[in-house]
Amino acid sequence: MSTLPMPLVRAMIDLDTPARMADHLLPTLAADPTTLAIAVSRRGLLESPLIAPLAGRLPLAYLGRYDGAALVLTDSTSADQGLREIGLELSAADAAYAAVAVALRQWQADSHCVACGAPAALIQSGWVFRCTDCGAERYPRTDPCIIVAVTDDADRLLLARAAHFAYPRASVLAGYVEPGESLEAAVAREVFEEAGVHVHDVTYRGSQPWPFPRSLMCAFTARTSGTPEPVIDGEEIVEAAFLSREDVAARIAAGTLQLPSGISVAWSLVSDWLESPA
Ligand SMILES: [Zn+2]
Repeated sequence: MSTLPMPLVRAMIDLDTPARMADHLLPTLAADPTTLAIAVSRRGLLESPLIAPLAGRLPLAYLGRYDGAALVLTDSTSADQGLREIGLELSAADAAYAAVAVALRQWQADSHCVACGAPAALIQSGWVFRCTDCGAERYPRTDPCIIVAVTDDADRLLLARAAHFAYPRASVLAGYVEPGESLEAAVAREVFEEAGVHVHDVTYRGSQPWPFPRSLMCAFTARTSGTPEPVIDGEEIVEAAFLSREDVAARIAAGTLQLPSGISVAWSLVSDWLESPA
């Protein structure tokens, strides 16, 4: 089974990682009038236009090569656009660079050493913190999450409404991978915890960053045997059902179901199921 197109990673980009190790890369790029920048606030909001000349601002990290120019991250105090809202309007490359910039800026926002609490300074062109006191180094973190489209023997899709979703939004199940757990085990655990259903044929379908602030969504399909009724806890998940394609269309028409937004991995999984032959 092939991987799915993902809304935020429509293009492969050149992060030019070896160049980060060069001494004084950021000061050199700051003095270069051709250097481009993505400006991001501490909370991960973006300025418009996304890509603009650095123009004297302080570079916080080197993001790679963009149309032959160097691209850096810089701070913004006026950015007000969320990547979730504008991601689909951006070009493929811009969306991919924006995801990196939003993730890295939010990681940089806390500069204290986790070992001793002293201030830490950025090294390696903005990609590593080194403590100014104890010297401990800290690298950007990414938290893996699984998201899974579960179908039953009637090829119905499991859709659930989490308590924090506004009615009538529903989606496929998702959750964080726990320490020491494989992705496949996380899929099986989450589906059983949230819907009381055992799955098999867990199949990887692609991934995309979800930098709000630092998740990586790992998409799967899985199957369950028979046509079971979901068992929910009523707290984390307030509604869940296996729905046929006809059920989905009817509920959308009746205003009792809203599918996930087009920027999400959930949308990629749901639309793939909707378009696949019954
Ligand atoms: Zn320290």
